[in-house]
Amino acid sequence: MSDEQGKQLEPYLPDLARARLQSLRLADGAATLVLDVSGLDGLERDRLEVAAKDALRGAPGVKEVRVAMMGEKRARNIIAVGSGKGGVGKSTLSANLAIALARAGIRTGLVDADIYGPSQARIMATEGARPQATSEKKLLPIMSEWGVPMLSMAHLASPGQAIAWRGPMAGNALSQLVDADWGDVELLVVDLPPGTGDVQLTMLQRFKPAGAVIVSTPQDLALMDAARAISLFDQGKVPVVGIVENMAGYTCPHCGEVSDPFGAGGAEKAAAEMGHAFLGRVPLDIAIRQASDAGTPLAAGDGPQAEAFAAIARRIATWLANRRQPSEAMA
Ligand code: ADP
Repeated sequence: MSDEQGKQLEPYLPDLARARLQSLRLADGAATLVLDVSGLDGLERDRLEVAAKDALRGAPGVKEVRVAMMGEKRARNIIAVGSGKGGVGKSTLSANLAIALARAGIRTGLVDADIYGPSQARIMATEGARPQATSEKKLLPIMSEWGVPMLSMAHLASPGQAIAWRGPMAGNALSQLVDADWGDVELLVVDLPPGTGDVQLTMLQRFKPAGAVIVSTPQDLALMDAARAISLFDQGKVPVVGIVENMAGYTCPHCGEVSDPFGAGGAEKAAAEMGHAFLGRVPLDIAIRQASDAGTPLAAGDGPQAEAFAAIARRIATWLANRRQPSEAMA
């Protein structure tokens, strides 16, 4: 409950903050207000806090404003897709897995957080699209033809502009993508930049993903690039859902037969040695590259490639469902 002095300050608050006010107290020039921010996401919370602080700073007798927030954040899971290095097919996998998850009945959105080489707009055929903003200045995701709303760093840059995001600017642009108006989207697949540097770690700490999917080629597993990516997620306290082996084996474009120039089962064995689940393999298949270049992802079709993506998506969905159970049981 507000004290007498606090009550006199209430009219200074903007409507939005008054509607969510739990208590407001004033003592020795310090105003302390508690807001119920249930259902608001990070950006909405930040805006509310700034608006309340600005309003109270101008009120009589107030030298300092402290804001405390209570209530549950909107439930939306994030799955981060990472890799130890570039070129292993992380973007291809992210796009196709997002489509496969949507086809599995989970309302899924896709965020291209790859600040070095955002390629989702091409893969998903939304190049040149510009996101609109809502009246609350949130970005509106772009609906792709494949049933997956999406936002990419590329959608924020003008065409042909070299993207050289740095530090805080990159972080803020990314927050805008993740905190966009995703509507009823339940799951966001976030395509992280390749590598294991500070940028990636900061992103993980900001987004708090439910889990991480690591993409690796058979060779990288031998080189332990994947192990480095895993240690990044460990540092960020993000559980690893499992490892996907991409470009595993070779699908002959003529007869469709899959051969295994690097030997079979290596990735699965490496995943087991690292104590992680193996989520499945996607063969090296020229049709996958052609589809990515053409903006017609194969997960949206019904060929063998779509089945490979669907199988991985089912394992991710199962992981998420099992993970959700304990909190549902408590509710
Ligand atoms: P990353 O995001 O890890 O840098 P990309 O998804 O951009 O990697 O893939 C790198 C290149 O390899 C792209 O040209 C892509 O189309 C191609 N590619 C990815 N996965 C496969 C695959 N399984 N078979 C054939 N080409 C692939």
